[in-house]
Amino acid sequence: MPKARETVLEIDLNALAHNYNYIRSKIDKDVKFMAVVKAFGYGSDVTGIARKLVELGADYFAVAYTSEGIALRHAGIETLILVLHPQSANFDDIIKYCLEPSLYSKFVLEEFIKTAEKQKLQNYPVHLKFNTGLNRLGFSQKETPVVRDLLKGTTAVKAKSFFSHLAASEDWREREFTLEQIYTFRKIALKLYDELGYRPMLHICNTSGIINYPKAHFDMVRSGIGLYGFGNDEPEDQKLKPIGTLKTIISQIHTMQKGETLGYNRAFTAEKTTKTATLPIGHADGINRQYGNGRAGVIINGEYAPIIGNVCMDMIMVNITGIECEEGDEVIVFGGPQHATEFAAKGNTISYELITGISQRVKRILIEN
Ligand SMILES: *Cc1c(COP(=O)(O)O)cnc(C)c1O
Repeated sequence: MPKARETVLEIDLNALAHNYNYIRSKIDKDVKFMAVVKAFGYGSDVTGIARKLVELGADYFAVAYTSEGIALRHAGIETLILVLHPQSANFDDIIKYCLEPSLYSKFVLEEFIKTAEKQKLQNYPVHLKFNTGLNRLGFSQKETPVVRDLLKGTTAVKAKSFFSHLAASEDWREREFTLEQIYTFRKIALKLYDELGYRPMLHICNTSGIINYPKAHFDMVRSGIGLYGFGNDEPEDQKLKPIGTLKTIISQIHTMQKGETLGYNRAFTAEKTTKTATLPIGHADGINRQYGNGRAGVIINGEYAPIIGNVCMDMIMVNITGIECEEGDEVIVFGGPQHATEFAAKGNTISYELITGISQRVKRILIEN
């Protein structure tokens, strides 16, 4: 790999393939694999990721919003796409772009049926979401008769799946709660199977659910974070490969004398002669202010250089005293020698937030051998 000459997020498609195959190996052959590619493929490069996942054999994609599904269609992706959180304003587009909506409340189910009937559709595939304890989106168990009556009252739509989402699949201390969610989901599904007279697919597991609840894979699993190389715990992290490496370079080196201050609000004061490097990456790129003032650092020529002073919009400064380096040298923010989970923890957050927060200003580079 040539050295970075500007700020770039390198995305390793071989690592993606490794992660996909690893997660696939955890599920039965006849269980479908839904690849979750919302939020630009967890902040990577959704088009590149989705194309590779099609090649790898993903059965389904999931995105959060309709616009994300439309972007995939514009990129030529023909795979089935579930939109997890559409609003009724999007229903015409959902149909126009052959996307499949998650319908999670009486209001959106009724609205979608109205739209489908107006367009004289038959059996348009929809996914019914049930709330089994996350209390975020979904019909409650009590509302199953509403779902039944609305579905039975129309031929314009047909349930393709019933699904739910786990609240704490990565947390062993919440095992009982998770098993209860799975139990409730199964109960809802069986009841509706009987009443509808047909069997939509069932799915409840996200990445950690796939790993920790092998008996709850049902007909399909929905994996996001695992594909990008994060397992939500150490043993799983070791088996997966983070696909992204965030790199930048040294723009300029300064030598500060004892007593001089650096950056906005003079947040850092040199206690002795200090060599600093200014890097072209800041909070507008997704390296937020919580990483500043010594809390996180970067890797330069194999050595750790802490971020000093406040993070600026377009720059950070790091302490390179004692590190051999020059202007133009490559810098690794996370990935490779510095795991993104570790970097995120220094800013009191999790890998999900760090990687999805890398802004669209940062150039993405796909790598594949
Ligand atoms: C984001 C999301 C997922 C993916 O979860 P991971 O923990 O990233 O695997 C699955 N299902 C739903 C409903 C989601 O919103």
